[in-house]
Amino acid sequence: MELPFTEPFKIKMVENIYKSTREQREGWIKDANLNLFNLKSQQVFIDLLTDSGTGAMSDKQWSEIMLGDESYAGASSYYKMKEAIKDITGFSYFLPVHQGRAAENVLFSVLVKEGDLVPGNSHFDTTKGHIEFRKANAIDCTINAASETTSYHPFKGNVDLQKLENVLKSNPREKISCVIVTITNNTAGGQPVSMSNLREVSELSRKYGVKFIIDSARFAENAYFIRLREDGFADKDIRDISREMFSYADGMTMSSKKDAIVNMGGFIAFRDEELFRQASTFNIMYEGFITYGGMSGRDMNALAQGLYEGTELLYLESRINQVSFLGNKLKEYGIPLLEPFGGHAIFIDAKKFLPHIPKKEFPAQTLAIELYTEGGLRGVEIGALMADRDPQTRKNRYPDLEMVRLALPRRVYTDNHMNYVAAVVRNVFERRNTIRNGVKIVWEAPIMRHFTIRLERIQ
Ligand SMILES: *Cc1c(COP(=O)(O)O)cnc(C)c1O
Repeated sequence: MELPFTEPFKIKMVENIYKSTREQREGWIKDANLNLFNLKSQQVFIDLLTDSGTGAMSDKQWSEIMLGDESYAGASSYYKMKEAIKDITGFSYFLPVHQGRAAENVLFSVLVKEGDLVPGNSHFDTTKGHIEFRKANAIDCTINAASETTSYHPFKGNVDLQKLENVLKSNPREKISCVIVTITNNTAGGQPVSMSNLREVSELSRKYGVKFIIDSARFAENAYFIRLREDGFADKDIRDISREMFSYADGMTMSSKKDAIVNMGGFIAFRDEELFRQASTFNIMYEGFITYGGMSGRDMNALAQGLYEGTELLYLESRINQVSFLGNKLKEYGIPLLEPFGGHAIFIDAKKFLPHIPKKEFPAQTLAIELYTEGGLRGVEIGALMADRDPQTRKNRYPDLEMVRLALPRRVYTDNHMNYVAAVVRNVFERRNTIRNGVKIVWEAPIMRHFTIRLERIQ
């Protein structure tokens, strides 16, 4: 028989987790104003809130921590990171930053001004936040197939080239800050973008004289899907695929808390020295000197090592197969899911799970609360709460997809944990008709409200 996928590592250190009672959880979630971000991690049994910064570092990464060079300027750790970035992405210039949104802040300080448009596939929430904070507009040009939750499309994260060209054609070039493509497309469900789509977006951007930036948090998972699903890549090395993806772009922002498997860190990389120079000034103001920019030397070392581990085929195979292991289990139980499964998470379709809860009562958040009280499972709402209000009209935005995301930390949970998770979701699914009402907002921040929102159950 064909040998199954397994993790290409074994466990050297363990962390105990606390299994609470339903009664405890009901009290805790109430005290947290029904906002799962407000829970203490000790109050959570299986934490699938995010795969960001929650991964387990390897023994090699921990060894690199001990070798960190904490010099203010010109640390060897900076050069180690520079070399790894050049090797894996092909970009010659880079700036370290403390995480992905800092990369956006620094880069957009150069590129984005008031009234600008920033077309791309569905922008990540912090990306959109940084654009809208500058009174510019993020234009979503994702293909329509992305909002059909059950249809098969191998690259649901793709940009609709016609939509993109319409934006580029009908606006003066000075009004377009840049084109941003997120790989994998997190907001659309961790869906990959094909190599040919990246190439075509690059050609269009060049035709209209606009810079093309890749939001690269999960570039390695994207490369894995290209290898798996796109003609001509089946035998290619993940790092060669990665270099080709980046070869089409002028620069990239990176949250290294994802595919570089570190708990903190990020960077911006550039092809062009001029853009790097302009961004350097903002990096110094917001992050730190250009050779550490918000990171300690040891963290830069671990990041450099993590870039190599995150682009190993066997690792990616086991990770993405763990995601589909959970997905298939849930599917077996009849849970409505976004398909095909993404790279880092399973997305439950809350509109179909709780069809009797109207959208203004936030069905995905309602479901996330139920999953927590049922089994101490923490997922996250990706729906109307996260979509915020329209910056002009201040009306709630209701995106096509109203989902609960269960994101898998890298190298942290076993398949037994996945079986537990699936059972929790199943139990809630079986009693879904007893969940009569959703939730209402009692307080919200003006931007990125979902992190700090306070909610109440509708009686
Ligand atoms: C996580 C993420 C970011 C922001 O990065 P942080 O490290 O959380 O600041 C930006 N874009 C995408 C696609 C992400 O997944």
